[in-house]
Amino acid sequence: MKITKEYRFEAAHRLMDHPGACRYLHGHSYKLEVTVKGPINPDGMVVDFGVLSDAVKNILNMSSDHHTAFDHATILKDTDPLVDWLLKGIQDKKIPNMRIISLPSHPTAEFMAGHFAVLVQGKLDEFCENYTPGDWLRVVRVRLWETAKAHATWEI
Ligand SMILES: [Zn+2]
Repeated sequence: MKITKEYRFEAAHRLMDHPGACRYLHGHSYKLEVTVKGPINPDGMVVDFGVLSDAVKNILNMSSDHHTAFDHATILKDTDPLVDWLLKGIQDKKIPNMRIISLPSHPTAEFMAGHFAVLVQGKLDEFCENYTPGDWLRVVRVRLWETAKAHATWEI
């Protein structure tokens, strides 16, 4: 059985080597759909939607770990010169209120969908440790909508 839940977050990014307008820093209202697969447990659920939401919201909003939260972050490739420049500005207290996420690839919808799959699976494994033993609960699909008409789907 598969269950899916949707989430939304705002973030800035740029694809620095892109020939088109995406090379400029800009923002998106992202929609993230996460699908997990597993057997139906004695409660009649694959997993409580609340547990799935705890895992995803921990990654997006990170109430306890703000510097790695995706919501309202600026997401850049780790080799983008903006990363070092912004981090130095933050460290020197010249740039307040910035949340930077640097990724090992250009922050395309394609890469980010796969990245979220790994992050959500890690959180589910952590959060579900006492919920149901074993690794029965798997993230099998992540769809990331970058605009109302464009999305990328990671699937296993
Ligand atoms: Zn974009």
